[in-house]
Amino acid sequence: MGATGYFTHPTCWKHEMGPGHPECPERLGAIEDRLLISGVDMALQRREASPASLADIELAHGRMHVAALRGLGDALREDMAAGGPTHTSLDPDTMINAHTWDAALVAVGAALDATDAVLAGELENAFCAVRPPGHHAGRDKAMGFCFFNNVAIAAKYALERHGLKRVAIVDFDVHHGNGTEDIVAGDERILMVSFFQHPFYPEGGSTSNAANLVNLPVPAYTRGMDIRELVDMMWLPRLEAHKPELIFISAGFDAHREDDMGQMGLVEQDYAWITQRIKEVALRHAKGRIVSCLEGGYNLSALGRSVEAHLRVLADV
Ligand SMILES: [Zn+2]
Repeated sequence: MGATGYFTHPTCWKHEMGPGHPECPERLGAIEDRLLISGVDMALQRREASPASLADIELAHGRMHVAALRGLGDALREDMAAGGPTHTSLDPDTMINAHTWDAALVAVGAALDATDAVLAGELENAFCAVRPPGHHAGRDKAMGFCFFNNVAIAAKYALERHGLKRVAIVDFDVHHGNGTEDIVAGDERILMVSFFQHPFYPEGGSTSNAANLVNLPVPAYTRGMDIRELVDMMWLPRLEAHKPELIFISAGFDAHREDDMGQMGLVEQDYAWITQRIKEVALRHAKGRIVSCLEGGYNLSALGRSVEAHLRVLADV
């Protein structure tokens, strides 16, 4: 069995969107605490991510979007030096601070470094404990706490830079990964499977708009047993048929029963079960290669426990 990597960077803690915002640096602390207390950290190879290049980010995003975010960061720092506000709002829940640009670069960089490491055979799989998250960020748009789409960029990177023929993206966040869909829809090299609470933020996603998307909208209060049945019936046959050479996970844990951001009923054991199912597909087709990136998850205790459950399966401990 290969090793499991844990990619993160101190700058991911410095991006914050103002007091009381749920997508807060403490999320990473809750994960780290839980991994330490449980001893799971002992089974992980910890690595510091490097910043992604703009050329790699532009595999999934328009040049104008990248330049605009960089420009906003530069302008904010200049304004702050002159005594101005500490944040710039991009939408009602998405703000940048002086560190957002750098944090966004290392969040993408973690996913790319993890991709490099698993494809080099140094690691079997990896988890990227990063923020800002990515799955709402579309080709030309930041929204929903997301600026660059870490997973979609890494998927394109695996195809374009490493020459893979087929990859899969599994998204189990409570919200529809509309940004990922925007970037990968119609790219037959990428199969995206997801479930998400519907109707719910960010709306849309109720139909699969392209043949490479398996969207499973589910009503509020859906429990883990129903999700497991959907995964078995709807995700697995498509994943098996696609034969991905690498599987990316948009690992949001906000479908947890204790997470008030959504109204679904998953618990830690469900995340472990889903991860096991994904791992079995990866072992059959992808030499076990999985790159998982943190998306949502806002109840700090539930987030820590869920990531522990996810990593126990990935690291086989
Ligand atoms: Zn979410």
